[in-house]
Amino acid sequence: MLTLTDKLFDARSLTQKEEITIKYCNNLKTLSKCKKDKVAAILVSEDFNQIYSIGINGGPKGQDNCLCNSELSKFGCVHAEQNCLIKNSNTTNAKIMICTKEPCVTCAALIVNANVNIKEFWYISDYKDHRGLKILENANINVFKINV
Ligand SMILES: [Zn+2]
Ligand SMILES: [Zn+2]
Repeated sequence: MLTLTDKLFDARSLTQKEEITIKYCNNLKTLSKCKKDKVAAILVSEDFNQIYSIGINGGPKGQDNCLCNSELSKFGCVHAEQNCLIKNSNTTNAKIMICTKEPCVTCAALIVNANVNIKEFWYISDYKDHRGLKILENANINVFKINV
C-alpha cells in the first residue's frame, strides 16, 4: 500500500482516489522518450476530482524526442514539471503537483513563480540535490514524499 510522509516524517495511508492518481502519474512516465530519465508530473485538484494538466520530460513537440547529449542543447530535456506547468490553463483553483521525482532547483523556482496556485508538492523518488525542496518549503508549498 502507498503511504504519504510529510517533512516531520508523519506517515498516512492514501485514499483510493489518491492512489489511483499516483499510479496514473507513475505510468505516464513510460511515455517519455528521454534516453537519460523518464519523469512525469500532473496537476490535480486538492480533492483529486480534477486533473488540470499532465507533463512528461522530453524535447519540443514533434521534433527531437530527447535533448540530452544533443547538439541542439546543453541543458537537456524540458522537465516534466515544466511541461505540466505550461500546459495548465487554470490559475485560480488550489492544486497539488504530483511528480515521479523530486524537483530540481529550476523547476522548484518555476513552481513558485508560476501563476498556478500550487499548495502541495508530492513526489516519489529522490533527486541528488535537495535544494529544490527547500525552495518550495520557503514559499510555503507543503512537500510530501510518496512511499511506493
Ligand atoms: Zn532527454
Ligand atoms: Zn526540473
